[in-house]
Amino acid sequence: MFLEAGRRATELALEASRRSFEAGRIPIAGAAVSLDAGGALRTVAVGVNGRVAPPGSNSPGYPTDHGETAAVRAVERFADVDWNRTVFATTLSPCIMCTRTLLYLGGLGLDKIVIAEAENYPGEKARLVAAGMTVVELRDAGTVERMRAFAREAPSVWSADIGELVPRAGGGPMGDVIRQERMLAQVAGVRGEGAFAAAVFGPDGERLAACADGRERTGGNPTAAPVIVALGEAGSAANLRECLLVVSAAEPIDVAGFGLAALGACELFRPAALLTDAPLADELEAALAPVIAQRIAHGIVRP
Ligand SMILES: [Zn+2]
Repeated sequence: MFLEAGRRATELALEASRRSFEAGRIPIAGAAVSLDAGGALRTVAVGVNGRVAPPGSNSPGYPTDHGETAAVRAVERFADVDWNRTVFATTLSPCIMCTRTLLYLGGLGLDKIVIAEAENYPGEKARLVAAGMTVVELRDAGTVERMRAFAREAPSVWSADIGELVPRAGGGPMGDVIRQERMLAQVAGVRGEGAFAAAVFGPDGERLAACADGRERTGGNPTAAPVIVALGEAGSAANLRECLLVVSAAEPIDVAGFGLAALGACELFRPAALLTDAPLADELEAALAPVIAQRIAHGIVRP
């Protein structure tokens, strides 16, 4: 019944990845196609890896746009998608960020996933299977070869894309307490009356991005959570492993509030430190502890 939807999603993802490759971009793409009650196919979204911007674009790149997260970010009217009747295809086995994003969609009903290849990157697809999703793996020879060629020609871009660019030793954007208080005040200003905002500061203390929570505005799109947006808007020139992630919230933050996609982005890109003015729930604290070694808290009155 969903065979045609799966075939269409796979074709769209493969075609987008081929176009990316020809344009000198990272050849990874994702696509989602729904089957409506009348049996008609509807393309929900197609997305391509955004680390390398399209030729001629002024964009600094958007490193949290992997094929899968880019497709999810491109979904229009997110709240209207019937994920239970949708097949999601990706050209490469998903990393932890994309896996967590897909698991979030799983909570909304998604359970059918196609992976074109997992040879070049094993990824975290086992977690999708463990969550009860049906995962079809194609071992598509052309996709394997394209990805292999890209990794050979641009090894540092590929390393950066999977969070493996080694950070420079020493330094760091953390600064002293006064500087940290100023950073927090800036992010709290971005938050306004909202629940939650995040920012990324570069290794020299420069602010690279700051954003409020866009999930309500987008009908609950997980890629609009402030942390994953800030890590994306920081741009591809930044090694996120050298950056400071700043989070300001009025209330304690738990995993759901932080967002599964955002948590996955932290697990993949491992910012140097997290500075926050809000308490983190134990489960979130435990999930972030192994990936962000340095955590700085200000103005938190713990009970
Ligand atoms: Zn990914």
